[in-house]
Amino acid sequence: MTIDPSIGPERARAVFDEELARSGSADLLQALRHRWVARSGSWMAAFMEGVARAAPEQKKALGRGANDLKKHVETALEARETALAAARRPAGAVDITLSGRAPRLGWRHPLSLIRDQVGAIFSRLGYQVLEGPEIEDDYHNFEALNMPADHPARDMQDTLYLAEPLMPATYDAPPRGRAPRGPQPLTLLRTHTSAMQIRQMERQDPPVRLVAVGPVYRRDNLDLTHTPMFHQVEGLVVGRGVTLADLKGTLTSMAAALFGSGQAVRFRPSFFPYTEPSAEVDIRCIRCHGDGCPMCKRTGWLEILGSGMVHPAVFEYVGYDPDEVTGFAFGMGIERVALLKWGVEDIRLFYENDLRFLEQFGR
Ligand SMILES: [Zn+2]
Repeated sequence: MTIDPSIGPERARAVFDEELARSGSADLLQALRHRWVARSGSWMAAFMEGVARAAPEQKKALGRGANDLKKHVETALEARETALAAARRPAGAVDITLSGRAPRLGWRHPLSLIRDQVGAIFSRLGYQVLEGPEIEDDYHNFEALNMPADHPARDMQDTLYLAEPLMPATYDAPPRGRAPRGPQPLTLLRTHTSAMQIRQMERQDPPVRLVAVGPVYRRDNLDLTHTPMFHQVEGLVVGRGVTLADLKGTLTSMAAALFGSGQAVRFRPSFFPYTEPSAEVDIRCIRCHGDGCPMCKRTGWLEILGSGMVHPAVFEYVGYDPDEVTGFAFGMGIERVALLKWGVEDIRLFYENDLRFLEQFGR
């Protein structure tokens, strides 16, 4: 209804109540407020002008009527605004009628799964699980493992040496053994976790029973089966009367735990500078079960690790008496186990962070 103060406050009040009843939203309510109480052009402004223009004897009655209307309009607007605000959902409110949104859970990396599984197998057998430095000195990585200065594995072609050697302050001289004190002329990224054998034997009297797990580095180009960084697990047991039979029993039970019970294992004579005798260990091909297939190059066997009885020269480096103690050691590539266990054909898949690949192996 257009603004027409001539209808008088009583009739205007009925008009307002009618309009209020139709103003169900905050926007409509705001428009209503503007139309009724704005400083100019509103119903109230028109009434007040009428009061101002009225004859002196009418002013009092008209003024009371206008004031009563104004009070009624403002009280009603305020009450309706409060009610609307109370009914409005607070910002960020949760609509509990919607179905839940499940949090997206991560997956452990397949290499972590193998590493943890191997760690768990050996923890149960009473081994310590160690990590150790990835930046190693030449002595712990090579020399104390019976690889003297002219050993081919020390070649710059195979090993990543640091341009600057580590200063003596960062080199903790071991309590025992022949480790050189003072500056280390050559520092490198460890080429195997075997350096941890030496570090632990320098610190601990026999018996020793440890596995060391972690990344190792070689000068390899990336291809289907090689990466410049990969992961190894290294095992070492030293004590009185430790024999080759203990080594075979341990590795046979590890193969069963990793690849399933009844997993056949064979030992082939081999050579490593830090073990004597040495053996490569194969498992029966998990794809063809020995019949011969492309995965095992038709041999029926898959090579998984190297092992042997600790060379007496290694014991001499760490100050153990080779007449008193014997021991065995083994080293295995985590990637190698993962490739075989899951039939993955390209090692690079483990490093490309493609979730469609990484999510296939369980949590
Ligand atoms: Zn096969």
